[in-house]
Amino acid sequence: MKLTIIGTGYVGLVTGICFAETGNTVTCLDINMEKISFLKNGICPIYEPGLENLLHRNIKEERIFFTTDLNSAVRDADVIFLALPTPPGADGAADLAHIMSVAASLSNVITDYKIIVNKSTVPVGTAEKVMKILSKKLPRELFDVVSNPEFLREGVALEDFLKPDRVVIGTHSEKVKEVMTSLYQPFVRQGNPIYFMDIRSAEMTKYAANSFLALKISFMNEVANLCEKTNANVDMVRIGIGSDERIGKRFLFPGIGYGGSCFPKDVLALHQTAKEHAYDFKLLKSVLEVNKQQKLLLFHKVYDHFNGKLKGRRLAIWGLSFKPETDDIRDAPSIDIIEKLLQAGAIIRVYDPEAMKNLSARFGNVIEYAVNQYGALEDADALLIITEWSEFRNPDFDKISALLHSKTIFDGRNIYDSDKMDELGFHYESIGRKTIT
Ligand code: NAD
Repeated sequence: MKLTIIGTGYVGLVTGICFAETGNTVTCLDINMEKISFLKNGICPIYEPGLENLLHRNIKEERIFFTTDLNSAVRDADVIFLALPTPPGADGAADLAHIMSVAASLSNVITDYKIIVNKSTVPVGTAEKVMKILSKKLPRELFDVVSNPEFLREGVALEDFLKPDRVVIGTHSEKVKEVMTSLYQPFVRQGNPIYFMDIRSAEMTKYAANSFLALKISFMNEVANLCEKTNANVDMVRIGIGSDERIGKRFLFPGIGYGGSCFPKDVLALHQTAKEHAYDFKLLKSVLEVNKQQKLLLFHKVYDHFNGKLKGRRLAIWGLSFKPETDDIRDAPSIDIIEKLLQAGAIIRVYDPEAMKNLSARFGNVIEYAVNQYGALEDADALLIITEWSEFRNPDFDKISALLHSKTIFDGRNIYDSDKMDELGFHYESIGRKTIT
């Protein structure tokens, strides 16, 4: 099939490459010329494990192309995917400006039947709005609009796309069902389901999924905070509840709040949808509040430990991306923590395997950037662990002890064993476990 992907970011690029990998001819379009020129030269503008290899293969096999020209990208396409940003607007609702402007542009260039599939995360009713815009210029028989929310996770995006737990498709058209089934069939050969449903339910499914996951994380963060006050160990509690199949083991790790380009904005957007429908979604309100508080937990621990004396204090930070295996720092806890530490006068040196470039675009030379994880430590009064990259899990503790000015670690991800840190003589603070002094 001939596919066009509009918006070549995390979702669009992964979608395009995976569909090219199964033999389709894919054109990826973006308004960002630099991104397109990188991609034409086989350079992946984002870090996502395995993606660049597949990019090279599909460029070589002439199954994937990159362009900024809408007309030529759309002309031969059978299916057009929208993978455009839907950032939060001023009121928290998803800003649909990108989707609506592309829909208007499509209505000017479409001349024969196209299936337009929305992969962006959008509020209930968006497909209807897109249809309305298209209908202003096009006869109804020239297009179908489909909702196909994307559930991939950054860091394991290829695995998620190539072997999805489920594929959700909102459409009533039998013709569309056939096309979408044949597109996704190669990815669900192990028997995972493709769920067809009405468009509104498909749109809502994505928000409900992300909001539920954010709720699960926030619940465990609150349990962890209470564990600290009651001298219980959240790691034990996590194991104790996770083995109950009704609860499940995943998403129970406490930490310093969820971040990234999806959970924060999606919880906000669903909360706003509820408001617009005069529904008081109390749980979502709490999730927003709990996460805001949790993102600053590590800062407060540092502040309390040093009795508020952070001015001129040198601090090292390991991990900046909102989670491991990605360079994405959008809404990452690292940003909130660094901002607060800077306000308090601390001197910060950071290290992250992939996200340094993005962070330096945000903070410039207000902070220092180390070339490796140990380079961040020299003469620092404490190490803060913000993202649990694998290489931080088994470090050389002797080296850490030698480099740090004082042997103090604030671990926002509970990656070390408290007893071991005790034996090694560290002052060690983590989440939902007792402080080692
Ligand atoms: P992104 O910011 O990485 O990529 C969006 C791309 O669209 C950018 O390259 C941008 O230049 C391009 N763009 C903007 N306006 C355009 C236009 N008018 N024409 C062509 N290109 C245009 O965003 P993303 O993370 O890929 O997210 C896209 C959507 O998918 C969002 O709705 C998001 O919520 C959803 N989503 C994201 C993830 C994720 O993990 N990142 C997962 C599931 C769903």
